[in-house]
Amino acid sequence: MKRVILICLAAILSFCSCGANFEYAREDFFTMSTYATLVADGAEKSDIDMVKETLLAIEKKFSATNENSLVYRYNNGKRDILDDECMYVINAANKVACDTDGAFDYTLGSLVRLWNINGENPSVPDKNALDEALLHTGYKKVVIDSGVSLEDEGIMLDFGGIVKGYAGDAAVVRLKKAGISDCMLSIGGNITMLGTSQSNKIKGQTGWTVAITNPYDKQNVLGYITTTDCTVSVSGDYERYFVQNGEVYHHIFDSKTGYPAQTDLRSVAVICDDGIYADALSTALFVMGKDAALDFYAKGLYDFEAVFCTKDGKVLTTDGIKDLFIPEKTAAYINGKNIEFTK
Ligand code: AMP
Ligand code: MG
Repeated sequence: MKRVILICLAAILSFCSCGANFEYAREDFFTMSTYATLVADGAEKSDIDMVKETLLAIEKKFSATNENSLVYRYNNGKRDILDDECMYVINAANKVACDTDGAFDYTLGSLVRLWNINGENPSVPDKNALDEALLHTGYKKVVIDSGVSLEDEGIMLDFGGIVKGYAGDAAVVRLKKAGISDCMLSIGGNITMLGTSQSNKIKGQTGWTVAITNPYDKQNVLGYITTTDCTVSVSGDYERYFVQNGEVYHHIFDSKTGYPAQTDLRSVAVICDDGIYADALSTALFVMGKDAALDFYAKGLYDFEAVFCTKDGKVLTTDGIKDLFIPEKTAAYINGKNIEFTK
């Protein structure tokens, strides 16, 4: 009898382990100075390790602070040959810099270092130091052909605004090659998706449901988008910042002033097939502010959609996504802010 009960119990457990919530491999880990989550249907440990190794290799190459990284060495005068992967990222970064008139600028390394927003006890830098750092920025001083040369030897490259999106693409492409057809990789504010989540499969829907954080209350969300085979990338003033004399200083800089971008936005989520462009564009649109960002969208240079959250408590979406974005009704009253959803 005891044996029968044990067998029944084993059967129930094995049934559960194949059930709706258990087929996905899920791994939470720290990478590229942020938290990452991988959810992948049918992934084995070797697939998860492969994703981690891919991200680590990208971090080791593009980190602006790791002394052994290619970009760090480049920035510190060792003009090592930038390999094909670097050239791919630089070309994409330069394209977005040109198309956004420097709202996205990958040459702000000296400013990023001076502000040191991710360091201990950051504070507003001295004005002279800021002016000096600002002098050595500007994507127009970078000459790109088969390689890269700088018209100002003091320029420091910084790919913090684009490399997570690139990394999401690179890892998911490898998972696809390994035979995974349904997965989601979140790296900080960048979520790259392939196929369909299990909970949506059960509901007969296609895609993954992504929640957009409410910048007024990070434990809550503004709303949801169900989409797939693309990246959702979010830039905002609420993740990396410090407060001095009641002023918030965040980590996204205006290349024209050297200060954190003064914008009417709290966050921008960009949805784009290419993670590398989703990431670069979310940074750029945040710097532009709402009206310029909507003008940029209307120009049609890139195929993307966006969700904006403004400082005056409005959430609005670009035309192509207005029916896909499902607002979280309770977000309307959070923190006494009367959030207004506009379509
Ligand atoms: P994101 O969170 O993707 O918007 O990227 C922010 C990161 O990109 C910062 O931590 C900097 O490393 C870098 N960055 C800051 N301002 C800019 C800018 N205007 N253009 C490009 N990269 C930037
Ligand atoms: Mg970005």
